[in-house]
Amino acid sequence: MPIEEWDHLQVRSSLCNGCQKPFEDKEDYHTALSLTPEGYRRRDLCQACWGAAERGSAISYWQGTFQIPPPPKPETLKREDAESLLRKFIDSKDPGHANVRYILAIMLERKRTLRHRDTTEQEGQKVLIYEHARTGETFLVPDPRLRLDQLEAVQTEVSALLAPPPAPTPVEQALAAVEQEANAAAIAAAENQPPNDAEPPTPQAQG
Ligand SMILES: [Zn+2]
Repeated sequence: MPIEEWDHLQVRSSLCNGCQKPFEDKEDYHTALSLTPEGYRRRDLCQACWGAAERGSAISYWQGTFQIPPPPKPETLKREDAESLLRKFIDSKDPGHANVRYILAIMLERKRTLRHRDTTEQEGQKVLIYEHARTGETFLVPDPRLRLDQLEAVQTEVSALLAPPPAPTPVEQALAAVEQEANAAAIAAAENQPPNDAEPPTPQAQG
């Protein structure tokens, strides 16, 4: 399976995919991921509906505790953080983003935003399965098998994406002001220049 087809995420269901009963707050659920011809399929089941057959056909399985998601936060200042970047890159089909995505996922695991649920291997490709701690979304992140000598470059790339562009220093501001003044002076001088074909003023001898 090409790496691009791993990049999708599936939201945890708010109801049991078996009996259709909505999950209650703090209710235990079982999640099974299986590979179908259409791609990954996620099933979330309550304790009563969970069975061995489901487990048998799954490539990955985990248990969690359902939490009623809190109401969405009011839209605050948009800021690229590790999570929004990961969401951006998980939709990206650029295979060059695989390294960045992997580092972001590890960062978010350390921050406990993502929970590592399982690691699966498909056709030699190791894939980390994460679940978002708050929303329950599934993130499938292929392990790009970074070598140590590649790690630093990717970390630098990620920090550059996360850091806001640096504010100009006082010296840079002063230089910019000087440059602007010099430009204005040059424009003014050019405007005052007589056209080339004009007669130069002839000095009149005063007798
Ligand atoms: Zn059920």
